[in-house]
Amino acid sequence: MIEESLNYSKLLSSLINEDGTLNEVVTSFLYQLFPRDLFVRAFSLLESTDLLIYILDTEKKLSEKPPGGETQDTKDHKNVENDQKASSASNSPHHIPEANNLDSLINACYEKDSTKIFRLIVQQANQDIAPFYVDLEKWFCSCDEYAGLLCEKLRSEKSLAEQLINHKGSIPSENQDDFAKIRLQSDSVIARHDKIMCPHLLAFAILLQTSQSVLRYFTKGPTPGVFIFTVAEIDDWLKLHLNVV
Ligand SMILES: [Zn+2]
Repeated sequence: MIEESLNYSKLLSSLINEDGTLNEVVTSFLYQLFPRDLFVRAFSLLESTDLLIYILDTEKKLSEKPPGGETQDTKDHKNVENDQKASSASNSPHHIPEANNLDSLINACYEKDSTKIFRLIVQQANQDIAPFYVDLEKWFCSCDEYAGLLCEKLRSEKSLAEQLINHKGSIPSENQDDFAKIRLQSDSVIARHDKIMCPHLLAFAILLQTSQSVLRYFTKGPTPGVFIFTVAEIDDWLKLHLNVV
């Protein structure tokens, strides 16, 4: 059963203290909270350099050079690494903004009612294995672990929706728990993450369904591991998918 009294977004947000450091007490608690060592595995992914977030930005707002020239972020060596990492990871053409302002990308990830599309790529150490692709809004991952859990559910007589969606109604506005939220056309529901979750989904949910300070910690420092880049053309977006999915 999902602990309905537990606000996962809030809890995971408290991973990072106000001064931008990691909260060791919360981290230890989370290690115990999630089954199958999920938090341990998700956390080691967050600290690796294997995660790439890409944003479809067809309006090119995130790709524009900020007025007044370069910001500190654009001069930041980390962004150069971002670009290089993204280029080598996908081996596909995509738009890397000249002035890749990391702060504006972080803000964009937490924009309310955003129409932008976000995806996560998880690179594999073994180059022969295709990268995993994570779609948080559908609570989907292309890894074998996720597929295995889904296959188990398919054997049941109950429908997948019955097993994997929390049918306690739409999310009350006062409960701002965004963790495992599946965005539907007119509403949102919560995935039964106690039934279906892999470390990649958990890692992506920690980045995008908690708070900007958590995303900032893992993308900007003190020891950044996660990379963000934008794709401005739909053609590049499709080519990127062909290379990953
Ligand atoms: Zn996965």
